Amino acid sequence: MSKNISRRSFLGAAAAAGASAVAAPAFAASSNSSAPAKWDDEVDVVVLGCGGAGMMAACQAHDAGGKVAVYDAGKSPFHTAINLCGGLFTAWGSKLQNADPEGKKDSWQQFAEDIMAYGNYMSLKEPVYCFAKNSGKAFDFLADNGLAKHHLEPYAGHSRLRAHRQDSFKGRDYIEVLVKLLDQRGIKINHGMGVTRFYFDPETNTVLGVQVGEGDKAKNVKANKGVIMATGGITGTPESLDSWVPSVAGKGVAIGGPKNDGTAMRIAVRDVGVPLSHMQYIASYPCGIVINGRNGPYCRWWFITNNGGILVNKNGQRFITEKEGICHVTPHLAFQPEGCHYVLTDQAGWDRTLSKIKLGALIGLPSWPAERVNSEFAKGENLWKCDTLEELSKKSGVNLEGLKKQLDQWNKAVETKNDTQFGRTDQQWKLSQGPWYMIKMEPWNNLSCGGVRVNEDLQVLGWDLKPVNHFYAAGETVAGVHGAFYCGGNACGFAHTSGYVAGRNVMGKKA
Ligand SMILES: Cc1cc2nc3c(=O)[nH]c(=O)nc-3n(C[C@H](O)[C@H](O)[C@H](O)COP(=O)(O)OP(=O)(O)OC[C@H]3O[C@@H](n4cnc5c(N)ncnc54)[C@H](O)[C@@H]3O)c2cc1C
Repeated sequence: MSKNISRRSFLGAAAAAGASAVAAPAFAASSNSSAPAKWDDEVDVVVLGCGGAGMMAACQAHDAGGKVAVYDAGKSPFHTAINLCGGLFTAWGSKLQNADPEGKKDSWQQFAEDIMAYGNYMSLKEPVYCFAKNSGKAFDFLADNGLAKHHLEPYAGHSRLRAHRQDSFKGRDYIEVLVKLLDQRGIKINHGMGVTRFYFDPETNTVLGVQVGEGDKAKNVKANKGVIMATGGITGTPESLDSWVPSVAGKGVAIGGPKNDGTAMRIAVRDVGVPLSHMQYIASYPCGIVINGRNGPYCRWWFITNNGGILVNKNGQRFITEKEGICHVTPHLAFQPEGCHYVLTDQAGWDRTLSKIKLGALIGLPSWPAERVNSEFAKGENLWKCDTLEELSKKSGVNLEGLKKQLDQWNKAVETKNDTQFGRTDQQWKLSQGPWYMIKMEPWNNLSCGGVRVNEDLQVLGWDLKPVNHFYAAGETVAGVHGAFYCGGNACGFAHTSGYVAGRNVMGKKA
């Protein structure tokens, strides 16, 4: 009895902690929700979510002998974060990496260390180790099943050659493989069927199944081996991002799968009492061009600054070395006027940049064709092309005196090879001759780093940080992979790898 009372009190506290959008939660222990009056369906494994993590988990569980059902709140696997992503997948031990003399120098331990160092050692080692050890196998599974052309590329924050990239720069390639594999296995995705309840037996600490869908469509599904929650992160809509992470509320771009609002996590808190962790950390790039309220593409400004451009704030002043790690720049925006910054270059710098990168990739995710870029320059809301600094300042509102002072300082730094402001060492080109090109950017929030806690087998941890039986998580729903900062490729890589591991483990077939 006392065990049950203390458990109920805890569930109440846990639900309250996540209660901002969970109306009148029915606690697992107090609402007798451990089983419905009737199960409508019975399978071995229920997978929630049809992104890369969910579909990979479904394939693996099926191949390990399980009867699998997939339920998704959205409309299509082509409306997921994986489908939107830039196709960067970091992995250790793939066939591609092993075949490369540079890649071969990597180890899973070095991969794990790089992830943790980039994230300021705020990661949780269980998901990181799971990822680092199994990522090559997960990548090879996709490659062996017809993944479109890809290559290895060096990537900032990774000390070894391990960033596998689709030649197309598109995550859609992964989704295409997985959709084909689900079809071949006869696994249907049930769309518009988000999770509405986890059935949890507190006596045995076991998730028994789920309720999915609402109204007439609602259905209770028993999962004899387990439930895998692969419902993505919380950056799918501005409302969701702002409610989960008030510190960024109202600012920048929010982008992701449209159903990625964290509802499933809240329901897990309510029904199973699992704690959430790392919810304050989101991967925020300092490069969102805000169009239509909170949408917009991403400007790869480092191609411009590597070719002589600088970053300035609304006062016309630099505020950081442009060589800083990309996501490490973002927190500095909070201290700049209006929380934004601008990349500035002259005609020669613009031409140098475009000799190295296509316009569609400079402004991408989603890519803008040349006509769109030109029309945005003509509109002069976020992109400006002006013959004089006076005109640039007038149209953009960036302080003219500040700009002039900054350009003098920068050009002196180029001349003397001494950047007395921020110690940059690669300056070769003065910024001297218009037309001037400038682009305004705000945070671009595309993935979240918080969620449920797991052990290395991806079993979800309960209120006492012990694994809940028959409950697994994969993908962006898992807390603590990236720590305080996400490093490129680790989210797409983790989503597929964790799906690979969870799908096998739920059936008792170790990865
Ligand atoms: C524009 C963009 C670019 C990116 N580029 C990269 C990159 O190049 N490299 C990288 O590593 N990472 C990148 N990321 C991040 C990476 O894509 C994501 O972290 C990853 O796709 C998450 O995969 P997932 O399977 O966990 O979630 P998702 O692909 O988001 O799938 C989650 C699924 O769960 C469903 N769902 C949501 N709520 C519920 C519910 N309550 N019940 C049932 N189903 C639900 C959704 O409808 C969706 O189908 C990018 C993200 C974006 C948005």
